[in-house]
Amino acid sequence: MTLNKLTIKEASEKLQKRKITAVQLTRACLARIKEVDGKIKACITVCDDKAMEMAREADIRLKNGENGDLLGIPYLVKDNIMTRGIKTTASSKILENYTAPFSAAIIKKLNQAGAVILGKTNLDEFAHGASTENSAFGPTHNPWNLDRVPGGSSGGSAAAVAANMCIFALGTDTGGSIRHPASFCSVTGLKPTYGRSSRFGLIAMTSSTDVPGPLTKTVADAGIVLAAIAGQDKNDATTPDEPVPDYGQDIDKSVKGLKIGLPREYFTGGLNKEVKQAIDAAIKELKKQGAEFLEVSLPHTKYGIASYYIITPSEISSNLARFDGIRYGFSAKETEDLITGYTKSRGHGFGPEVKRRIMLGTYALSAGYFDAYYLQAQKVRTIIKEEMDEVLSSVDCLLTPTSPGTAFKIGEQSGDPLQMYLEDVFVTGASLAGLPAMSIPAGFVNGLPVGMQLIGKRFDEATLFRVGHSFQTTTEWHREKPEL
Ligand code: GLN
Repeated sequence: MTLNKLTIKEASEKLQKRKITAVQLTRACLARIKEVDGKIKACITVCDDKAMEMAREADIRLKNGENGDLLGIPYLVKDNIMTRGIKTTASSKILENYTAPFSAAIIKKLNQAGAVILGKTNLDEFAHGASTENSAFGPTHNPWNLDRVPGGSSGGSAAAVAANMCIFALGTDTGGSIRHPASFCSVTGLKPTYGRSSRFGLIAMTSSTDVPGPLTKTVADAGIVLAAIAGQDKNDATTPDEPVPDYGQDIDKSVKGLKIGLPREYFTGGLNKEVKQAIDAAIKELKKQGAEFLEVSLPHTKYGIASYYIITPSEISSNLARFDGIRYGFSAKETEDLITGYTKSRGHGFGPEVKRRIMLGTYALSAGYFDAYYLQAQKVRTIIKEEMDEVLSSVDCLLTPTSPGTAFKIGEQSGDPLQMYLEDVFVTGASLAGLPAMSIPAGFVNGLPVGMQLIGKRFDEATLFRVGHSFQTTTEWHREKPEL
């Protein structure tokens, strides 16, 4: 078997029994990247030498008898997560030559665990998008069909996991960016509870919903990565002192008796019929395993997109103000005065979607419109959050489709921002409410993957793992791989 195909669980077992070395495993992943990434374009930076060095260090630790689920496991990192000494571009021209001076808190934790960084993955510029087409370095291609998008904004990470270029990958989810590409590429993608994993060292998009999380080949693997990256961090005041469970412990528990809510509003409107059939089949499978399903209602779901697309641009317009051509990245040369310097640097450095969001956000925050837009959107957000918390107090989790359709063709929706924003109808709710949510493979429509989403109670990722893992023990969807 080719080592790059292994899951974290399989690989770490082999590493610990000394059947393989971290160097061999890392080599296999790097070779796979060389073999297929010319077509997929999932990676922006591949750091062969650094990866081999980290792998050798992991092998020494293994030889010294150290154990650990992630010791010697190679992974890829979305390029809006800071990695010390490695280029970190956020897929933007403005950061094209920027090398991170420090590592994100979650990267430090993975370094300590002995995981091996292979490189950085493509994304929509600054994570603004749902197709990875907004990257300044060109789109990533979906490994299931190279003419189609991988979803976004963590499209490079999802495509890389699907194509077995790494054992797992990291993404960030602000309004669906882990779950959406996971569903388009048929991998498992977890958005942890807001605050569960530190934002320190992420390139900020929407600070009130940003959260980093794993993209993996199985649900069990997502639990392993979350356990490693979760926890309180003194550099991120939104991470509470909440215990991090050993997710492996309860993952095998049956779903018998668990109550799963089906929010009516997520099964109507723009939902593709065949996608719905796939989700219905998944529900049937979980019923067979003993889960109880009941219909619930989240009537404010329909305002999710509208409120998300006021709040997100508002925070973006403020967060991206730091890119002034002086402190970070691209700087326009020989400008007459300061203002021209700003406009030239930003005008050249930012792409069209980023500019659109800065303008929308600046407008929504401006004195005359603040109450009508930003404040109103925040009020709607509070209602959405309270409504979801309320419904979740009577069930163990919710089940919905992740996306209304399957992967679309590259170029098909890029001229229509509104259409692109509608990709997020089923994923913005959990983001606005700060709840954990996971997309897992649930079938195929015309050869294209379908994902189902599980949404849980605050800090209760464990239930999502239990349901998802149970589903993966009797289904094979997550084992299917694209032919490349
Ligand atoms: N599609 C969403 C957006 O464009 C996803 C963003 C994200 O989660 N980073 O805002």
